[in-house]
Amino acid sequence: MTKLAVYPGSFDPITYGHVDLIKRARGVFDNLRIAVAVNPRKKTLFSPEERVELIRESLGDDKIHVETFSDLLVQYLTRIGAKVVVRGLRAISDFDYEFSMAITNRNLNADIETLFLMASEPYIYLSSSMVKEIVYFGGDVSSMVPPYVLRKMQEKMSAIQTDHL
Ligand code: ADP
Repeated sequence: MTKLAVYPGSFDPITYGHVDLIKRARGVFDNLRIAVAVNPRKKTLFSPEERVELIRESLGDDKIHVETFSDLLVQYLTRIGAKVVVRGLRAISDFDYEFSMAITNRNLNADIETLFLMASEPYIYLSSSMVKEIVYFGGDVSSMVPPYVLRKMQEKMSAIQTDHL
């Protein structure tokens, strides 16, 4: 029996922390799907389609299925027949949010299990929002995101800065 697991998130944009988690989760689950959350109430730098493309280009692995979902996570999981959610835990600060999400999802559907992988040490303090902040002010994030993401972020930021001229 193949076990399908879903790694959901905003991925705005994907970082080396996400990439590391995906590689490690692939060693545990034979079928891992990356699910980009579409939430119109949340302001993102990249559109859902762009975030999917950034993930695909960064992973360069056709076997990993990447898609968007715009309903509740538990509804999406039921739709695709998945029961396992993979999430990452960095510092203690992630714990409260992740714990409440996991409990809420289980309350919504008792079959859903959320499994956590600890962040790898070099990426403990790496987040998409920190990367965006650094790029906005012209800092170097080449050790934090794959080269394709770096290029697309620089394009996006120069477009934003031109818009503000
Ligand atoms: P969300 O808005 O759903 O939190 P993110 O893209 O920020 O979306 O994060 C998706 C998941 O990846 C979360 O479980 C988060 O804790 C995890 N994650 C983010 N950055 C890292 C990292 N550097 N190392 C390990 N896990 C991470």
